[in-house]
Amino acid sequence: MMQYDVVIVGAGPAGIFTALEMVKRGANKKIVIVEKGSPVEKRACPKNQTQICVNCKPFCHITTGFSGAGAFSDGKLSLSAEVGGDLPDLLGFDFTQELINYTDKIYLEFGASEKIEGISDLDKIKEIRAKAIRAGLKLVDCPIRHLGTEKARELYLRIQNYLAEKGVDLIFGYNCQNIILKNNRCEGVILENVRDGSELIIYGQDTIVATGRRGAEWLEKICAQHNISHQPGTVDIGVRVEVRNEIMEEINEVLYESKLIGYPKPFKNKVRTFCQNPGGFVSQENYDNDLAVVNGHSYKDKKSSNTNLSILCSHNFSYPFNQPIAYAQKIGELTNMLANGHVLVQRFGDILDGKRTWEHELSNSNVRPTLPDAVAGDITSAMPYRTMTNIINFIQAVDMVVPGFASVETLLYSPELKFYSNKIKMDANLNTNVQSLHCLGDSSGWTRGLMMASVMGVLMGRKLV
Ligand SMILES: Cc1cc2nc3c(=O)[nH]c(=O)nc-3n(C[C@H](O)[C@H](O)[C@H](O)COP(=O)(O)OP(=O)(O)OC[C@H]3O[C@@H](n4cnc5c(N)ncnc54)[C@H](O)[C@@H]3O)c2cc1C
Repeated sequence: MMQYDVVIVGAGPAGIFTALEMVKRGANKKIVIVEKGSPVEKRACPKNQTQICVNCKPFCHITTGFSGAGAFSDGKLSLSAEVGGDLPDLLGFDFTQELINYTDKIYLEFGASEKIEGISDLDKIKEIRAKAIRAGLKLVDCPIRHLGTEKARELYLRIQNYLAEKGVDLIFGYNCQNIILKNNRCEGVILENVRDGSELIIYGQDTIVATGRRGAEWLEKICAQHNISHQPGTVDIGVRVEVRNEIMEEINEVLYESKLIGYPKPFKNKVRTFCQNPGGFVSQENYDNDLAVVNGHSYKDKKSSNTNLSILCSHNFSYPFNQPIAYAQKIGELTNMLANGHVLVQRFGDILDGKRTWEHELSNSNVRPTLPDAVAGDITSAMPYRTMTNIINFIQAVDMVVPGFASVETLLYSPELKFYSNKIKMDANLNTNVQSLHCLGDSSGWTRGLMMASVMGVLMGRKLV
């Protein structure tokens, strides 16, 4: 029987920073991190060789393994409490900011770049804000520390080695199937080997579930089975937009990442820009149920001629509907179906003209897609009217801040889906209604970014010490 003081499920930033903070604070506790994927140095996406996504089994290396969805991400650490999740609602704005500043120092200790983007030219920022106000958009200030995809991997490898040196056990290749509950107390986890299906049970005084966005569907089932208090989460449905760097030049230079929020008519739902990648590449991720979704990243050294960013439209449902994840998945499946299992891409002008985009038309433009797997077609055939209208109106508003953004040739990729998990009800000590069970990071529904997920881990580590 394996017995630990602390069992952490998921080696993403939330899980890692829990263990890291405990070690840094000299906790004399037996800690194990269990992860479905591989150690960071063994994570390899075959796409570099194959050029197309081959839908790796038993898991996707992009989102799974030590450092979670963070290792292959371009590692943009948002240094503002206004961005990346709802922790200020749980912990207060000032304390969240204090934790961000502290966690940022740990990233620096492990080799993050000293440079902070988005704070250099305050006069230019003022000008951009004035344009945003005229367009009915809010510009959120957010300094960013950019790790870069390759550098992020090196940084997380240093953390992995540090944890191993300090005696934290790291178990890879095991998928958590369930938690063990007795008298409303969590006593540990039931794991299954991803290759041979063998079972492993680990008991712990405290169990931390930090399974990320990929674990959202699984956690939804666990919540229902064990009555873990939660509320249905938000889902964001949108598109990834790609334009030439020339169009975004000013914003890229001054802000690095534009965080614009709008509530376009007639629905007035929240629509926002997210994850902007100057000189970046649009990418495809495959979820376990074969759902192909679009994302984007940028490398520190390798640059494209394009900038991509996502435009997300928040969906919150009310009684009697409580399956937001399933709703978004259906839209994704329909889009994939139209693209023969792939991501769809369409020119903005074609959407306004009510026609699909043909493959040969893509080469008529200045902007060339950086995701060669994407299939030219008609995203409006799968996108709900409300979502599509929100996106079109928002893009036209952004055009007032970034002239050329709503050009005929602007590329829209779909589906871009962000599942935020059910929001687990927790107190400020990160306790759920089940004794000794804590949920962190993106799987808890409280965070949606590297920094906030790491911050939640730091706080958890402190509480456990
Ligand atoms: C391509 C891409 C780019 C991104 N870029 C950025 C960015 O620039 N800036 C930013 O702030 N955020 C970015 N993000 C989001 C960011 O990576 C996540 O918000 C963050 O990693 C969440 O951390 P987490 O620890 O909560 O979960 P994750 O990082 O998702 O880690 C969860 C881990 O749990 C494991 N797991 C899941 N289920 C189980 C199970 N049942 N049993 C065992 N293990 C399990 C997974 O394999 C995974 O390793 C990006 C995400 C992607 C996919």
